[in-house]
Amino acid sequence: MEEFDIPPECMQVIDRVLFTPEQIQRRVEELGAQISADYAGKSLLLIGVLRGVIFFMTDLLRAIKIPVEVDFMSVSNYSPESRDMGFVRLVKDLELSITDRHVLFVEDIIDTGLTLNYLLRTLKARQPASFEVCVLFNKEKRRLIDLSLRYVGFNIPDYYVVGYGLDYREKYRNMPFVGLIKAEVLQNG
Ligand code: 5GP
Repeated sequence: MEEFDIPPECMQVIDRVLFTPEQIQRRVEELGAQISADYAGKSLLLIGVLRGVIFFMTDLLRAIKIPVEVDFMSVSNYSPESRDMGFVRLVKDLELSITDRHVLFVEDIIDTGLTLNYLLRTLKARQPASFEVCVLFNKEKRRLIDLSLRYVGFNIPDYYVVGYGLDYREKYRNMPFVGLIKAEVLQNG
C-alpha cells in the first residue's frame, strides 16, 4: 500500500488507514468503466441508500460515461453495537418508478447482508427490467445471507470502518480516506 499519513485531526480516532483517497478513486474509476461498458445502449438507473453512499455515489456517477439517472432511499440503521439484530425500516422511499428499468443498486458497505436482502425483496417486487448490485466495501466473512453482487470495489475483513461517507454515530463521514476506528472510540461511543 502506498504511504498515507493519518491527518493530525484524525489521529485520536483512527487506528489505521485501509484505503487512501487515491486507491478509492482508482477503483471507483474502474467500476465506472466496467458499468459503462456493461450497460452501453441501455437506460440505467442508479439507486443508493442514504447517507453512507453519498461519496461513492457521486464519484461513481462521474465515472460512468453513459446516460444515467439517480434516486435515493433511506432506511433506519441499527447501531454498531447491535449489528447482528438486522432490523430494517424504510424511512424514505424512491421517487422514481423502477418498473421496466435497468436498476443498479449502489451500496457503500455490505456486512451481514440483512439490510440489502430486505431492500432487494422490496425493490424486485416492483418488476425492474434488470436488477444488479454494486458495493464498494464487502465484508464477506460476516455474511448471513447469500447475495449476488455484480460489482465489488474491495473485499475487507471484519473491521468497523469509517470515512468516505461511512460514519460512526454520524461522525467521520467527511474523512477522504477509509480507516479503522480505534477500539477505545468504539467502546466509549
Ligand atoms: P448489513 O445489513 O449488511 O449487516 O449492514 C449494512 C449497513 O450497516 C451498512 O449500510 C452500514 O450502514 C452499516 N455498516 C456495516 N458495517 C459497517 C462498517 O464497517 N462501517 C460503517 N460505518 N457502517 C457499517
